[in-house]
Amino acid sequence: MKIGFIGLGNMGGPMAANLAAAGHEVTGFDVAGTVAEGVRPAQSAAEAARGAEVVITMLPNGDILRKVAEKIVPTMAQSAVLLDCSTVDVASARAVGEMAEGAGLGALDAPVSGGVGGAQGGTLTFMVGGSDAAFAMAKPLFDVMGQKAVHCGPAGSGQAAKICNNMILGATMIVTCEAFALADKLGLSREALFDVASTSSGQSWSLTSYCPAPGVGPQSPADNGYAPGFAADLMLKDLRLAQQAAEQADADTPLGRAAMELYARFVEQEDGKGRDFTAMLPRFETRGRGA
Ligand code: NAD
Repeated sequence: MKIGFIGLGNMGGPMAANLAAAGHEVTGFDVAGTVAEGVRPAQSAAEAARGAEVVITMLPNGDILRKVAEKIVPTMAQSAVLLDCSTVDVASARAVGEMAEGAGLGALDAPVSGGVGGAQGGTLTFMVGGSDAAFAMAKPLFDVMGQKAVHCGPAGSGQAAKICNNMILGATMIVTCEAFALADKLGLSREALFDVASTSSGQSWSLTSYCPAPGVGPQSPADNGYAPGFAADLMLKDLRLAQQAAEQADADTPLGRAAMELYARFVEQEDGKGRDFTAMLPRFETRGRGA
């Protein structure tokens, strides 16, 4: 397939390289001049998009996505698909979807989970919003870049699924860290808490697959000095997007808001920037109720 790829950063670079390695003809563009293995560099986003059957974007936020879409949609071939894999606000995802469909193109919002390791290994999970026809067209590409693609509904549904999932994750991780810090103060060993909660009703992915306590459960960033993994900054981004969507939809999300406020403090005022989001545990360890 002829593919245009815009945004060759930590995620987009290896995703584009995997598509090229699978035999697709990939032309890429990044404002920073970044290149990816096997990908022909273009001089502009419009040049990368021209004549492509599918144009993939992997960009930092919704404002940049809207600006890039304004440049590329007019140059895209009729019936081509605009496939955005960035994590952006639901409103931008819907606006870009409408812009593309209004111009006779297919459009999908398909944010990912799996991080840089998943992008490199081709094991991402895609949460996809858009039409059945556009999904069918992009499916072979999802199969190269990832291990799973879930079609969640019409435009915006992929972003909605991603922020709801990550709101669950953020709040669950915080309370898991709180529980380990409380166990310490109660004289309960972390191993004992893990053994009980991992097979009881306190079980969650945060505990059993990505345990925030070093030396407990499977290997995780906690065993590597809390180097990310999934950075607290990125968790904060997703929690902010969830609150933005909740405000627009008039949804009551008190724990989601508390999680966002705590990660904002951790990243912007404390030492959370650049650390894995599980580094909330050492944060709680050092605090008492007055903190
Ligand atoms: P990144 O900053 O490494 O890459 C973004 C790239 O977009 C950069 O190379 C930048 O130069 C480029 N760019 C910015 N404006 C541009 C423009 N106008 N035209 C062309 N290129 C432009 O970020 P990343 O880690 O690759 O993340 C990309 C997206 O994926 C984000 O939306 C992020 O939230 C999401 N995401 C990241 C991870 C992760 O673990 N890094 C996990 C899941 C989702």
